Amino acid sequence: MDYFHRDGGELWCEDARVRDLAARFGTPLYVYSRRTFVEHYRKLETAFADVPHVICFSVKSNGNLGILRTLAAMGAGADVVSGGELHKAMLAGIPADRIVYSGVGKTRSELELAVASGIRSINVENVEELRVLSEVAVALGRRQECSLRVNPDVDAHTHEYLTTGRKENKFGIPLADAVRAARIAASLPGIALTGLDMHIGSQILSPVPYRMALEQVRSVVGNLRAEGCDIRHLDIGGGLAVRYDTEDPMTADQFHDEIIALVRVLGVDLVLEPGRFIIGPAGILVGEVQFVKEAGGKRFVILDAGMNDLIRPSLYGAHHRIEPVVDGTGPLVQTDVVGPVCESGDFLGKDRQLPSLQRGDQVAVFTAGAYGFAMSSNYNQRPRAAEVLVDGAVATLIRRRETFDDLVRAEIDL
Ligand SMILES: *Cc1c(COP(=O)(O)O)cnc(C)c1O
Repeated sequence: MDYFHRDGGELWCEDARVRDLAARFGTPLYVYSRRTFVEHYRKLETAFADVPHVICFSVKSNGNLGILRTLAAMGAGADVVSGGELHKAMLAGIPADRIVYSGVGKTRSELELAVASGIRSINVENVEELRVLSEVAVALGRRQECSLRVNPDVDAHTHEYLTTGRKENKFGIPLADAVRAARIAASLPGIALTGLDMHIGSQILSPVPYRMALEQVRSVVGNLRAEGCDIRHLDIGGGLAVRYDTEDPMTADQFHDEIIALVRVLGVDLVLEPGRFIIGPAGILVGEVQFVKEAGGKRFVILDAGMNDLIRPSLYGAHHRIEPVVDGTGPLVQTDVVGPVCESGDFLGKDRQLPSLQRGDQVAVFTAGAYGFAMSSNYNQRPRAAEVLVDGAVATLIRRRETFDDLVRAEIDL
């Protein structure tokens, strides 16, 4: 579900013509529909209204301050995975007591920032991290609430790069080691172990892997309580899928209904860490056709947007729906939509049925709100795209296009 639609032969974002946005702000351009992500946030909020919970938006999926501020105003928390994300979440006005910090390799200075900021919970991924965190907290005169991230060893049936809850993944503490870790935590003066955490992967279509993981985690909660741990929080991570193509992902309600009984018996406050579910469908990437060429029996449409703007197709072979901004005419033609970057892997879509496109036409790449701009880079010394937030008919620039000056800003010229 989103608020992009076609009317009068062209694509709209809410009440704004995408063609006008491209003319006003240039391309490549990320366009976000506020109404879309607000509604997705509310869907989860409403579904889980019957249990104490906090929705901690995964900042790594989209870290734009304008997006974070909008979510903050609705009461969202944040799930951060670096000091930089923590900094931005707080800058955007997300209260520290609604911020959780996940990540396998937090540095001492990142831990110091997190403890000093008084965040809700640090999701600890190994025993050594517990020791460092305790030292840091003691030095700051604090006792830090934290959760153990356990690895429930379930298969989330998603892309191998997007699965994080198998025993062979680098994430979390094996279930069998949780009690040992809790005993160590209990001996550390800077640590208050008050929660358990899991995150089994991303783009997960069905609630079943969550239920299987929760069944595992439930017994760990029992074991830790038996050790005297006051487990009050359960963080079930993110990972809810969106529709890129023809997938049929679970709804917020289906997710809730499948897992709620398991959560309720535990008597815990629930933490959810969705990213893609909230912001994925709310963004498109608009590019302009530079050239059209036929080669080797194929038609290539070459855009001014490429893998440095949206890497998911190149990195994961991800499918993103692509449509012309203005309706085309004539028969559909099998087309590869590619970028200008000097890599054969630089494509946004292969073998798509598209109307004939010409130089100057624009295309929209859908479901690009999550892991789109956030994973963009300056590869090929390309300034990064601008980002625009649309609310009704009003479009606000929330990140200006980078300039050549930005490309050299941090460099030290000899
Ligand atoms: C990436 C990540 C998320 C968000 O994943 P989505 O699939 O975008 O919902 C949540 N929690 C952790 C720990 C993550 O690493």
